Amino acid sequence: SQQFDVVIVGGGAGGISVAASLLKRQPGVSIAIIDPASEHSYQPGWTLVGGGVFKREDTRRPMASLIPHGVTFIPAAVTTFHPDSNAVSTDDGKVLGYRTLVVSPGLKLNWEAIPGLKETLGKNGVTSNYSWDTAPYTWQNVQQLKRGKAIFTQPPMPIKCAGAPQKAMYLSCSEWQRQAILKDIDVEFCNAGGVLFGVADYVPALMSYIDRYDINLSLGQNLVAVDGERKIATFETTDADGNKTRIEKEFDMLHVCPPQCALDFIKNSPLSDDAGWFDVYPDTLQHKRYDNIFGLGDGTNTPNAKTAAAVRAQAPVVAENVLSVLVKQSPRAIYDGYGSCPLTVERGKIVLAEFCYGGKVKPSFPTWFIDGTQPSYLAWLLKEKTLPWVYWQGMLKGHEWLVAPQISAQPPRQLQSA
Ligand code: FAD
Repeated sequence: SQQFDVVIVGGGAGGISVAASLLKRQPGVSIAIIDPASEHSYQPGWTLVGGGVFKREDTRRPMASLIPHGVTFIPAAVTTFHPDSNAVSTDDGKVLGYRTLVVSPGLKLNWEAIPGLKETLGKNGVTSNYSWDTAPYTWQNVQQLKRGKAIFTQPPMPIKCAGAPQKAMYLSCSEWQRQAILKDIDVEFCNAGGVLFGVADYVPALMSYIDRYDINLSLGQNLVAVDGERKIATFETTDADGNKTRIEKEFDMLHVCPPQCALDFIKNSPLSDDAGWFDVYPDTLQHKRYDNIFGLGDGTNTPNAKTAAAVRAQAPVVAENVLSVLVKQSPRAIYDGYGSCPLTVERGKIVLAEFCYGGKVKPSFPTWFIDGTQPSYLAWLLKEKTLPWVYWQGMLKGHEWLVAPQISAQPPRQLQSA
């Protein structure tokens, strides 16, 4: 088997960023990235594809073009972890040995969990910004719909980019308002959760848009089936005693955010928690049972917002801590739970939610520049013009602007093996 200082599972936002951050700190370290995908997507851009602002081609680059110089790329899927012998196996029969392992494979979009959805996705007015294939179909629907009923759904938490389901809705409404046809379209937000957005500071601004667009806000309604041919979506509600009721709703356009869960190869591994997520400490991102394993991104059980913004703050923490473990020292770099969600409330305006663990607001900019709790044009410019560049040219290349990791004087815990 081949042997590396660091093996990285997943060449998405987390995997590439950690590799780049490691090489910035220690150019000679030997690294392999394992990923079956030949393309890498900037998923935050899909909201703007669905909103008619970006072309979807702008959001994707060949994986090979993003692998940092000097890193070995292994085009395969990891199937099994062998944490007691420091190795992983892949679906093409390889075994790769490591001194430290970094795991960032994202999560599973569970389209199959909703009967009827897969069959009709991409036709009959059923769309989703959560996939490269269908994000352009959202904008096509928005342009074609002149009257009728539009439903936007949100599944139970956790989901990646928790604001994305409503971003799709606001951008659609903004376009219908511009065309002066919003009054002829009945818009409903069916959210399985009990609140519009998880961090209370941002809710008043979002509520003002719910009012402005005259959206029916249906909380506690979970999409459980779709009949594309008949254009009927079925929702389930649960009352205080746990009794479930099903409601059928007709639609002309249905934007679905799919239910999300841990990937099977993580769930079935010895490295997951009871719910199937990759089991790491929320501060150091070190695995709870194996000193030389780290995890970041959407696949972990840390209670931050599952966003690329979170990955941007996590990658340097993992890089620091991996290098510590390679020299048999306890990890001291700390992740504070930072995540961000730029909520596109109308074309040209964004409510920029930024917060860390516990829902504590953590703005990157002074309020006179961008007040995250208010819709702003500057925040829109940030999302449209600056953040894609920060992603491709900054974070994937190991530049750590505004996210220097906090280094604790005392390690939060000692290496178990020391
Ligand atoms: P990913 O970037 O998804 O990468 C995972 C990689 O692992 C993939 O390349 C995959 O092929 C690979 N992989 C999977 N299984 C295996 C395996 N068995 N072996 C090897 N490799 C494997 N974030 C923001 O910050 N702001 C936003 O505005 C925003 N908006 C979003 C809007 C939408 C519609 C979506 C879908 C996401 C949005 N996000 C946003 C979230 C952001 O894209 C993710 O949080 C981020 O990509 C997570 O990085 P990751 O490395 O965990 O996973």
